[in-house]
Amino acid sequence: MSANHDAIWSSCLKVIKDNLPLQAYKTWFEPIVPVKLDNFVLTIQVPSHFFYEWLEEHYITLLKKVIKKEIGAEGQLEYSIVMENSANNSNPYTVKLPASNKKAVKNAPVNMPINISDNPIKNPFIIPGLKKVNVDSNLNPSYSFENFVEGDCNRLARSAGYAVANKPGGTAFNPLLIYGGVGLGKTHLAHAIGIGVKNQSPNKTVLYVSSEKFAHQFIDAVRNGTTNDFIHFYQMIDVLIIDDVQFFSGKEKTQDVFFHIFNHLHQNGKQIILTSDKPPVEMQGMEQRLLSRFKWGLSADLSTPDLETRIAIMEKKMYGNGIELPREVVEYLAYSINTNIREMEGAMTSLLAQASLNKKAITLELAKQMIDKFVKNTAREVSIDYIQKVVCDYFDLPIEMLKSKTRKREVVQARQISMYFSKKMTKSSLASIGAHCGGKDHATVLHACRTVMNLSETDKQFRVYLEDLEKKLTIQ
Ligand code: ADP
Ligand code: MG
Repeated sequence: MSANHDAIWSSCLKVIKDNLPLQAYKTWFEPIVPVKLDNFVLTIQVPSHFFYEWLEEHYITLLKKVIKKEIGAEGQLEYSIVMENSANNSNPYTVKLPASNKKAVKNAPVNMPINISDNPIKNPFIIPGLKKVNVDSNLNPSYSFENFVEGDCNRLARSAGYAVANKPGGTAFNPLLIYGGVGLGKTHLAHAIGIGVKNQSPNKTVLYVSSEKFAHQFIDAVRNGTTNDFIHFYQMIDVLIIDDVQFFSGKEKTQDVFFHIFNHLHQNGKQIILTSDKPPVEMQGMEQRLLSRFKWGLSADLSTPDLETRIAIMEKKMYGNGIELPREVVEYLAYSINTNIREMEGAMTSLLAQASLNKKAITLELAKQMIDKFVKNTAREVSIDYIQKVVCDYFDLPIEMLKSKTRKREVVQARQISMYFSKKMTKSSLASIGAHCGGKDHATVLHACRTVMNLSETDKQFRVYLEDLEKKLTIQ
């Protein structure tokens, strides 16, 4: 391609100008600077995150059209957001965001009587016969395995999912039921499996559907007298992913129709993947015959990720979106929000938006303020890990030393102080504090707490250490 980004962008602008009121054009398009054109991807620089969101919300259709017109069918758009650092402008940084890519991971056309998703039959007696229809997989390409960080919290579910993706219907994990609390990655993993299947076996028809949508389609089908088409449609799917099946609780008719679809698919070696916010034993209002089928395959849980995994998840999101945040901010977010990954990501997004709108640098201070304002119901007890990190940073010691057996004076002191604060600020037992500090027993922890208290009464410098640290540890 010979045209450069400036030329391409000015041709785009001509079309945009013709299609918009002048004021809108001036406000939203004049400030944009084209940055580069690389492999059919045009990168444009916008002044803030807010600006980007506005464009995505109001002008994305127009933008996409002109991009395709000027660059061709493969044309894509990426944003780069330059945020000014309020302290000095020498350190701006860039956020790279791909334009929203809702394009589904495509299924090949399949023979079906009807595609109920967008064209319910009005009159059940006019069955049009089999015809090729496109089934939208509803898969979100960014919820892939590559973007899913592995940790102890998800190892079983992830590897079972991986096996299923490689051999849908051909493993013992059928159905595969992924369960776990809100925001822990069930939906993400379910999509990842679907995407994995499409990568390995593009000819398989994969369908992701929320249980709400399934239930509503069923109600519509009953109302329109097209129940058979509904059932037939679902029976043609090779890999059926139903998200949040707990929603079926108490809905007898929906459970009934799902039971028939389930049986048909299972008997024909088709793969079923389900997610739920609780394990089958705790699902109330679900028919026994359905529950027993859920147990045929594998139920794998997603639990709360540990600190390292949370940090890794944040880093992956940042990397994927071209965002850079100071390390201490990432750690602070990961330390403070420990039960829900969606909230952690939400905090990161709010922080970026805040910084961009107010042209502030992203600092630990800003992160602390933001967390208070934007994140509700976060469990925020300081953890032993956090205490150890703050103490080690303060004394400039590597955290491994604290957990080692070394008897060096400064290490012993830092270790004892960590134990003291862990006892004071967390609900952990002496034994578990000891276990976190390199496998010490509860008597050692008790001794440490006493030593620290004695020293704080007799040693002035030591008292200053404790006060400094206490301030750092108290999250305002
Ligand atoms: P759930 O369906 O369990 O409520 P989601 O799948 O919607 O949770 O996940 C919430 C957010 O957390 C998503 O943006 C998802 O990408 C992210 N997430 C969860 N677990 C992981 C993980 N292990 N690696 C990367 N991102 C994750
Ligand atoms: Mg979900």
